[in-house]
Amino acid sequence: MYCVKVEKVVRHNKDTATLIFDSILPSYPGQFVMLNLFGYEEIPLSLSSPRSITVKAVGETTKALVNVNPGAIVGIKGPSGNPFTPTDTKALLVAGGIGIAPLLYLHDYLIAEGANVHVLYGARTADELVCLERLKSYEVATDDGSKGFYGSVVELAELKPLRKYERIYACGPEPMLRAFHRLLKERRLLDKAEFSLERLMRCGMGVCGSCVLPEGFRVCVEGPVFNAAKLEW
Ligand SMILES: Cc1cc2nc3c(=O)[nH]c(=O)nc-3n(C[C@H](O)[C@H](O)[C@H](O)COP(=O)(O)OP(=O)(O)OC[C@H]3O[C@@H](n4cnc5c(N)ncnc54)[C@H](O)[C@@H]3O)c2cc1C
Repeated sequence: MYCVKVEKVVRHNKDTATLIFDSILPSYPGQFVMLNLFGYEEIPLSLSSPRSITVKAVGETTKALVNVNPGAIVGIKGPSGNPFTPTDTKALLVAGGIGIAPLLYLHDYLIAEGANVHVLYGARTADELVCLERLKSYEVATDDGSKGFYGSVVELAELKPLRKYERIYACGPEPMLRAFHRLLKERRLLDKAEFSLERLMRCGMGVCGSCVLPEGFRVCVEGPVFNAAKLEW
């Protein structure tokens, strides 16, 4: 474990913030860190850029992180895990809720590689859509119709010519990913897609077994990014 300082905190809404560190963490998009805020549990968080995390408050540790002030010191293990496979052609990124975090890093990385990137991003309400200013080309969906398409991001994806994309990347709550998996399967596009999974994770190094999938893969070591065709959903 090593320590980094939180240089800047960008609060997006009442329960989501981006913490920008004082140093770059050598990494690839899709990788995560085990982060330790003094006095709280160590938790896994995806990098939302080589020097930031974007956190949604859902419990004690994430609430404390969202309310942290610049100057705080946090312990880091990693970055680790399998990253997304990059492309320099046409890419579609599909995000649900805080699943946007690793896709923000991927978005910037693919654009730097010369890819043509489009993002479909869904949330419950408009207020929960964060970091839109970072996205070059995007469409949003909200469950309550407060912004963009009225419905889920998977329903929005159903209306799109998915076949024209060379690679498809997704991250979000498991029910959303399962619905998207069904859609990709129907269209015979699973091979083109990679999903980043967020399972309950304790040790983050392949020992404790808490993040094992029914297929036998450990999300922390064999994931968190998986080719969608490998997931038997
Ligand atoms: C590889 C990976 C990357 C992640 N990246 C991010 C990220 O970029 N930003 C972010 O905000 N969160 C991310 N998460 C989820 C984050 O780790 C959890 O929200 C966090 O551990 C919750 O800790 P807590 O103490 O605040 O809440 P807890 O009290 O531990 O949990 C609060 C609630 O959230 C649920 N929960 C906890 N962990 C998870 C999880 N991993 N997946 C789904 N539900 C969970 C619990 O079941 C409970 O209902 C990631 C998880 C993984 C495994």
